[in-house]
Amino acid sequence: MAVQSRKPAQADAKVDKKVDAQVGKTWGRDRDVSFGTILISLGILVMSPIWVLYTYISCNGYSCAMSAPALEIYTATNSLEALKTLLIRELPQYSPYAMRLFFTWLTFQAVLYAFLPAQIGYGQRTPAGHLLPYKVNGLLAWVISHALYFAGGLYFGWWKLSIIHDNWGGLLIAANLYGYFLTFFCFIKAYTFPSHPADRKFSGSFIYDLLMGIEFNPRFGKLFDFKLFHNGRPGIVAWTMIDLSFAAAQYQKIGYVTNSMILLNLLHATYVLDFFYNEDWYLRTIDIAHDHFGFYLAWGDSVWLPWLYTLQSHYLVRNTVDLTPVQFAITFTVGFTGYFIFRSVNHQKDIVRSTNGECMIWGKPAKVIRTSFVTSDGKTHKSLLLCSGYWGLSRHFNYVGDLLISLAMCMTCGTQHLLPYFYIIYMTILLLHRIQRDHTRCKGKYGKFWEEYMKVVPYKLIPYVY
Ligand code: NDP
Repeated sequence: MAVQSRKPAQADAKVDKKVDAQVGKTWGRDRDVSFGTILISLGILVMSPIWVLYTYISCNGYSCAMSAPALEIYTATNSLEALKTLLIRELPQYSPYAMRLFFTWLTFQAVLYAFLPAQIGYGQRTPAGHLLPYKVNGLLAWVISHALYFAGGLYFGWWKLSIIHDNWGGLLIAANLYGYFLTFFCFIKAYTFPSHPADRKFSGSFIYDLLMGIEFNPRFGKLFDFKLFHNGRPGIVAWTMIDLSFAAAQYQKIGYVTNSMILLNLLHATYVLDFFYNEDWYLRTIDIAHDHFGFYLAWGDSVWLPWLYTLQSHYLVRNTVDLTPVQFAITFTVGFTGYFIFRSVNHQKDIVRSTNGECMIWGKPAKVIRTSFVTSDGKTHKSLLLCSGYWGLSRHFNYVGDLLISLAMCMTCGTQHLLPYFYIIYMTILLLHRIQRDHTRCKGKYGKFWEEYMKVVPYKLIPYVY
C-alpha cells in the first residue's frame, strides 16, 4: 500500500487537463537542433553499442587491454575468413539461459517496483506545469534483491554467486535486445499514447528524438514511471550485484578476494545505497527533472550503465591487483572525501528547498535568490537558488565530489591499463556537458534571476579555476 508523504506545500495535484492540449513553449529540452547536433546524435547512437561490445571483447579475450583487440581486428582485416573466425570467437554468444535470466530479473524488479510498499515523492514541476508523484521504494527492492541473491547462492544452491559473471556475454545480448525494444516502444508511445502530451518535445529530427526522447515522463498508469524504474532497477540495483558476482568469480579463480575488489565493492555500494536511501532527492535531479526518455536513458540504463559502470570489477577478475596499504589508504581517502562532498552539497540544496530558505548553512542563515518562472499553462511559480555554502563556491560543486568518487573507483585497478579509467573520463565529459545543458535550461527557466545568480557565483565547477 502506498503511503502518502513528502508532498510539497505548493503541490497542486490536479493539473488542469487543458494543459495537455498545449505544447510547452517555454524552457525545457532543446526544440530546434542544428545539423551538427544531429550528426553527433547519430554518432552516439552508432558508437555507444560498438564501444560496449569493444570493452566486452577487450575484457573477455584480452584481459581488458584496450588496444589489443583493435590490433588483432586490424591484422585480421587482411583476410575475410580470419576476420570472421576472430569475430565468432570474440563476440558474445546468444544463450537461452541468459535470456531467461535477464527477463526474469527484469520482471522481478518490475513486480517489486509496482507492489512493494512505497512512499510517494514528488519531482520538480515540468515545463507544462505537472507535479508528478513517484513511488519511492528502491531501498527495499535493493535489500530484497541482494538478500535473495545471497540466499539463492549460498543457502538454497539455486545458482552460483558468480552467475552474472558466468553469463556475461548472453546477458549483454539480452540487455541490448531489451534496450532497443524499449527505445522504439517509447518512441512509438510518444506519438500514439503519450502519458503527458504537453510535456513532449519534438525536435524535428528523427535521429535526435530517438536519442534524447520525446516523452518527458512516460508511464504505465499513474505511477509506473519508466525513468525512475529503469535508472534505478535494471540500472542501479544491478550495479552492486554485478560487482558481487565478479568478486565471487575472482574468489573462484584465485582463491581469495583482493583488497582492490573489496574497496571497489565498498565504494560502489556506498554510492548505490546513498542513491536509494536518498531516492526522494533523486526525483529533483536533472535525470528526472530535465531528461526526456529516449535511447539515451532506455538503452543507457539497460546496457551502458550496468556494463560500463562496472568495468573495474571486470578488470579486477582478469588482473589481480593487490593494493599496498598506502595505495589502499589514498584510494579510500579520495573516494570517501568525494562522497562526503557529494552528499553534503546535494543535502544543502535539498534542505534549502524543503525549508523555503529558512535554514542555516554552515552555521549562518542561508543566502538565497528568490525566483519565479512560468510554465506553458501560463501559471507563475516560485522557487529559490541557494548562493551560500557549497553553492556559493561554484554552481556545480556537487560534481567535484562525484568526480573524486569516480576517480577512486578507477584507482582501485592500479595504473597498468587505461580501460578501467574509462569511467572517470566518461564522467568528466558527461558532467562538463551537463553543466552547459543545465546552464541553458536554468537560463531559460529563471532568466534574470539566473543571471543574478551567475554574478554572485561566477564559477561553474572549481572556484577560481573553472
Ligand atoms: P544538480 O543536483 O546540481 O541539479 C541541478 C538543478 O538544481 C538545476 O537544474 C536547478 O534545477 C537546481 N539548481 C541549480 N542551482 C541551484 C541553486 N543554487 N540552488 C538550488 N537549486 C539549484 O545536478 P544533477 O541532477 O546533474 O546531479 C545530481 C547529483 O547526481 C550530482 O551530485 C551529480 O554529480 C550526480 N550525477 C551522477 C551521475 C552518474 O552517472 N553517476 C550522472 C549525473 C549526475 P531547478 O531549479 O529546476 O530545480
